[in-house]
Amino acid sequence: MKRRSCQQCGEALQGRIDKKYCSDQCRFLFNNQKKRQSEITIANVNQILRRNRSILKSFNPVGKTTIRKSLLLGQQFSLDFYTHIYRTKQGMVYYFCYEYGYAFAADEKVVLVTWQPYMNHPINQVMFQERFGNH
Ligand SMILES: [Zn+2]
Repeated sequence: MKRRSCQQCGEALQGRIDKKYCSDQCRFLFNNQKKRQSEITIANVNQILRRNRSILKSFNPVGKTTIRKSLLLGQQFSLDFYTHIYRTKQGMVYYFCYEYGYAFAADEKVVLVTWQPYMNHPINQVMFQERFGNH
C-alpha cells in the first residue's frame, strides 16, 4: 500500500483514504496558496492586456490608422494576448485588447481601429466594412 502524506507539509496521513491534509490548518494553507497562484496568473495576463491596450491607444488616438507592424512589435506588444476577435464578412480578423483593435494588412502593416457598438452583432459587419474599408 502506498504511503500517503499531507499535501501541505508532507506529514504521513492516517485514517480515511481520501484524506489529503494532516490538519485543518494545512488544508487552509494549501488552498490559500493555490488561490494566490491563480490570482498571480490572472494579474500577469491582465498586465499584458493592459500594456497591449495602451500601446494600441498610443498609436491610434483618433480611431483609425495604419502603421508598420514593426512599430507595434518594437513596443513589447504581445500578439498572443487579446480580449476578443472581430471577423468581417470578407474574412478579415481584428484582434482587440478591450476597445482597441488591430488587423494584419499587406506590406507588413497593421490597421488599428477602435471598437464600435455595432460590432456586437454580426449583421452589422457590413457597416464596419463601410466605415473602415477592406484592407
Ligand atoms: Zn500537514
